Amino acid sequence: MGLSSRHSVTLSPRPATRPILSVRDLVVHYHTSRGAVQAVNGVSFDIAEGERLGLVGESGSGKSTIALALLRLIRPPGRIESGEIVLDDVDLLSLDEEEMRQVRLARIALVAQGAMNSLNPVLRVKEQIRDGLHDHAAELSGRAFDDRVYELLHSVGLRRDVADMFPHELSGGMKQRVCMAIAISLRPTLIIADEPTSALDVVVQRQVMDTLLKVQEELGAAIILIGHDMGLMAQVVDRVGIMYAGNLAEVSPVADLFRTPLHPYSDLLIASLPSFEVKGAFQGIPGLPPSLLNRPVGCSFRARCPRAFERCATVEPRLREVQPERLVSCHLY
Ligand code: SF4
Repeated sequence: MGLSSRHSVTLSPRPATRPILSVRDLVVHYHTSRGAVQAVNGVSFDIAEGERLGLVGESGSGKSTIALALLRLIRPPGRIESGEIVLDDVDLLSLDEEEMRQVRLARIALVAQGAMNSLNPVLRVKEQIRDGLHDHAAELSGRAFDDRVYELLHSVGLRRDVADMFPHELSGGMKQRVCMAIAISLRPTLIIADEPTSALDVVVQRQVMDTLLKVQEELGAAIILIGHDMGLMAQVVDRVGIMYAGNLAEVSPVADLFRTPLHPYSDLLIASLPSFEVKGAFQGIPGLPPSLLNRPVGCSFRARCPRAFERCATVEPRLREVQPERLVSCHLY
């Protein structure tokens, strides 16, 4: 094995305001009969209040595993091996299950790709929002509860009569908006949006995304937007983290990343887009990511990297700040 990227991570002073979430040296493995799949291999990042951070990468790069780890929803054979996840000064990995359940209810909202399929088909929207509010719903009188439901529906762009509808009466976009209303009902400080619109018709994708970002701004919540659409990221996030083989290859403000990508992988991803303005998902680049069962010695991108040199074969690069606000994991810097 090469040197681990888990040690001596130097993080950017960004975000300028107080980080609401700090992730340090996060390691997640899936234990299979063939060995441990090292899905997340020592990832560290911060996110500030109200900030929008994009996590981009090919499938299997570890971005969705990070989302599940933040919620402590990694299930066997997966396991968080080590690391630290601090949200609002609370170390989430030290909480017991009940305390973590409360955090999931009130502090972190997940809006996932298939969220709309999680709606209960036999309950009206209003009742599903009541379930989302949990104990808090009991504190609201009938009229006050209705007003809260209408307010939540309004905030995600739905009419108040949706409250009395069943899921089958709603379009996919409307269902995803209902899921958003439920997710934000307890005013979370962090929203994790994992490909939140990819199951929707392309025409409504942007509208639903705009609504999600409007709601995030109104709440003052931070958002981690996970996806593979670089064009979308360019338009909506403040910073981007590029994931590769379970590590962050680069973390940069979005404009800097597109103007001068530092990591050779970022460079290839951006070069594969038709143009800066054109929206498009990256098509991939030649070669395959390494097996996460047997990580290669040295840099995990070496087999695909046009700029690899001797040192890359023996020493694993670490994520470190090489320019103000810019972190990269590459021996070229
Ligand atoms: Fe390429 Fe070497 Fe940089 Fe890895 S460390 S991205 S192989 S130049």
